[in-house]
Amino acid sequence: MLFSDIADTFARLESTSSRLEMTSILADFFKGLRPADLRDIIYLSQGKLHPDFYPVELGMADKMVLRAISTASGNPDAKVEELWTRIGDTGTVAEELISKKKQMSLFSTPLTLERVVSDLTKIERSEGKNSQENKVKTLTGMLHDSTATEARYICRIVSGRMRVGASAMTILDALAQCFADKESRPEIERAFNVTCDMGLIGERLAENGMDGIRDVTVHVGNPIKVMLAERLPSLPEVLERMGGRCAMEYKYDGMRVQAHIGGNSVTLYSRRLENLTNNFPDICEALRSNLKGKEAIIEGECVATDPDTGAMLPFQMVTHRRRKHDMGSAVKSIPVRIFMFDILYLDGKDMTNLPYPERRKVLSETFELDDAVGMSEMGIIENDTQAEEFFESAIAAKCEGIMAKSLSESSVYRAGSRGFLWIKYKKDYHEALTDTFDLAVIGAFYGMGKRAGRYGALLMAVYDQDSGEFCSVCKLGTGFDDAFLDALPTMLDKYKCDEKPGYIRTGLDPDVWFEPNVVLEVAGADLTLSPNHKAAFGWAKEDAGIGIRFPRFTGRVRDDKSADMSTTVSEIYDMYEMQFSDGL
Ligand code: AMP
Repeated sequence: MLFSDIADTFARLESTSSRLEMTSILADFFKGLRPADLRDIIYLSQGKLHPDFYPVELGMADKMVLRAISTASGNPDAKVEELWTRIGDTGTVAEELISKKKQMSLFSTPLTLERVVSDLTKIERSEGKNSQENKVKTLTGMLHDSTATEARYICRIVSGRMRVGASAMTILDALAQCFADKESRPEIERAFNVTCDMGLIGERLAENGMDGIRDVTVHVGNPIKVMLAERLPSLPEVLERMGGRCAMEYKYDGMRVQAHIGGNSVTLYSRRLENLTNNFPDICEALRSNLKGKEAIIEGECVATDPDTGAMLPFQMVTHRRRKHDMGSAVKSIPVRIFMFDILYLDGKDMTNLPYPERRKVLSETFELDDAVGMSEMGIIENDTQAEEFFESAIAAKCEGIMAKSLSESSVYRAGSRGFLWIKYKKDYHEALTDTFDLAVIGAFYGMGKRAGRYGALLMAVYDQDSGEFCSVCKLGTGFDDAFLDALPTMLDKYKCDEKPGYIRTGLDPDVWFEPNVVLEVAGADLTLSPNHKAAFGWAKEDAGIGIRFPRFTGRVRDDKSADMSTTVSEIYDMYEMQFSDGL
C-alpha cells in the first residue's frame, strides 16, 4: 500500500475540526484495508508503531531530524535550522523544503507503508555507538523518497509530535461505522478499554467483524484502562446515592499502580500507562513473593512512608521515586507501601465482571500481607455517623479522604469509565473553595510587565469524554512563582502547535496553542457561566459555557495524569449544579 494515500488521509483529518467529518474520512479509508495494514495505520495516526504502553518511544531529537531534512532537501544546516526556529515544527519545515526539492528531482521510489514501518522500526531499534548516525541515515533515505505531505508526517512521527486531531474516541466511532454498527460501539469500546490497544481492535474487526473482538479479554502484560470515580459534595449525598449502604475505603494520597504479576516477572503501570516497574523494585519483589496464586493483575496505591515511624507521607514524597538513578538509596530513604484496592485477573480468570464485594474477597485471600503489601482500609457504612467517623479516621491517617464503593450486583470493574459505582469525597470539599480541578494546558498568553518575555498566563481545559474534545474553563495566571514561570517553556514548548487543534473548544485566542499533555491542579472560588468558555456549552444556559472564577495554581503538576484524565465536562457541570444545592 502506498504511504502517500495514508499521508493524504492524515492531511484531510488535520484540515477539519468536525469530529463527524473525521469519523467519516476514517471509516471510508478503513474500508477494504488489509487487517495488518489497518493495525499499523492506527498506530501511525497516533505517532507510534505500537500501542501506547509499549516501553520504547520513537522520539528522535529535533536537531537530528533537521540534519536529515537538510541532506534530503539539499539545503544547508543553517537554513533548515533558521526555518525551524521560525516555524517550530520539524514536519512543516520538511514539507516546505521537500516540496521545493521535488520539483527538481525525478529519481525516487514511491514510499510504501511496509517501507515506512520497516524504516521506523530500524530507527526505533538502533542502539550503540553509531546509532544517531544510523537513525539520521535511515530518515534521510525515507525523506529522499517522500512527497512533501509524506515528509510532514514522517518527521512528526519520528520527533514524537504526531497530531492529526483524531482522538481515540473518533477512531472507535470510525471502526464501529466501518465494521459494525452504532449499537456495537460500547462493545468495541470495552474491548479497547481492557487492552489499551486500538491497533489490535482494528485488526480483529477487519479480520472477523464483531466476532473478532468478542474473545478479547484481560491478560497479564496488557494494561487495562483504569476505572475512575465520580464526586459528590457531602457524605450524606454519597451515602444516599449509594442507596443507604456502601463500602468506604481510605483514599490514599499516593501513586496508583496497576501491577501485572506473572511467573517471575512483575510490571507496574501508572494510570496513564507509563511503565513504573523500575521505580518500585521493592514493591515488585514483594508482590511477586506474596502472591499465593500464579498470575494476577491488581491495583493499589503506592504511598511513601516515614522510614522511622512507618507513618504515611504526602504524595510529593512518592514522586521522588520517579527518578532514574540511584534507585537503591531511594528504596531505603523513601520506603513505599502498596495499599491494594482491586483485583482484575487471577490465574486465568477475568475478575472485572465480578461485583466489588466478590473482587475484594478474592483480593484479600490472594496475598500474604506485610510491611510492603497491605489492603486498603475498608468499612461497610450504613448511616451518616458511620460515614463521618470513617472519613475522620481516614484524615487522621493522613489520607486525602474516602472512596465510596457500591456493593450492588452491578458493581463490576468498569475499565476506562468514570461513574457513580465509585464516589470520591475529599478533605478539600470540606473547605471554603469548591474543590480543585485537574486541568489540561491548551494555550498560553505572552506575559506583560514583570512577566514580559515569558508566558504570563495559561489557557486551561477540561476533557469531554464523549467527544474527545478539550473545552476551556479558565485563563490561569495566579499561583506561579518565578521558578515555575521559567520552567514553563521546557514543560510546554514540545507540545506547541502551529494552529489551534481541531479538538479544542474555546472562545479565547491565546498567543500559542498546545496539544493537551500537561495537567495542572487548579483551585477556584466558584464556577460561573461564561460566553468564552466552552465546557458544557449551552447546558445551563444558551450561549454560555462553564468557567472557573479566580483560578489559582496549587503548585501541583499532575504528571501522573494524562490530558484525558483531566476533570471532565460532566464533572464540572455537576459541580456547577452542586453550588446551588445544600451541599456546599
Ligand atoms: P482523583 O485522582 O481525585 O480522580 O481520585 C482517584 C484516585 O484515587 C485513583 O485513581 C487512585 O489513584 C486514588 N485512590 C486512593 N485510594 C483509593 C482507593 N481505596 N480506591 C480507589 N482509588 C484510590
